[in-house]
Amino acid sequence: MKVDVSSIKYHLGAMKLVDEKIEIDDLSITGRVVEFPEPIHLELQVTNSGDEYLVTGRVHAMPIVECNRCLEKFKYPLNIEFMETISKKALDSDNLIDLDDSITEHLILEMPIKIICDENCKGLCPRCGQNLNLKECGCDRQVIDPRLIKLKDFFNNKD
Ligand SMILES: [Zn+2]
Ligand SMILES: [Zn+2]
Repeated sequence: MKVDVSSIKYHLGAMKLVDEKIEIDDLSITGRVVEFPEPIHLELQVTNSGDEYLVTGRVHAMPIVECNRCLEKFKYPLNIEFMETISKKALDSDNLIDLDDSITEHLILEMPIKIICDENCKGLCPRCGQNLNLKECGCDRQVIDPRLIKLKDFFNNKD
C-alpha cells in the first residue's frame, strides 16, 4: 500500500487523509496461518512533520483464525490503533511512502497468542479428538493425578 504524499511534501504540518480498502496476503503468525479473505480498511492520516511523515489512525480487519482449544475457524475482528513515523531520508521516492511492512507488523502485534472462539469453548476430547462443543463423545476423560497412580499401583500389587 503506497500513499502519494506529493501534495503535502513541501508544506510542514500539511495533512492527507487515506480511506481505503486493500487486499492483503495471508500471514503466518507464530506458526499459524491467519487468512484475510476480506479487504482490510485503512483510515489513516498522514502528516508532514518536517524530517518525517507521521501516520496515525485506525486499521480494521476481519481475519479468519483458528480457535486454540477446538481448532474451529472463525472470524476475529481486529481494530488497530495505527501509528508510524517514516523518515523522509529513508524514502526511495519523494512522492510515495510504502506502508505495507508497518501494516503487517501492526497486524501481527495485535493478534493475540491464544485465541479462543468463545470463553466457554469446551475444546477437543484428549482421547478421541471430538469437538466437544458439537457433541459429547462419551470418553472417560477423568485425569488421574500422577501422585495417585503410584498409590493405585501399590494397591494393585497387593491383590
Ligand atoms: Zn473453540
Ligand atoms: Zn472422546
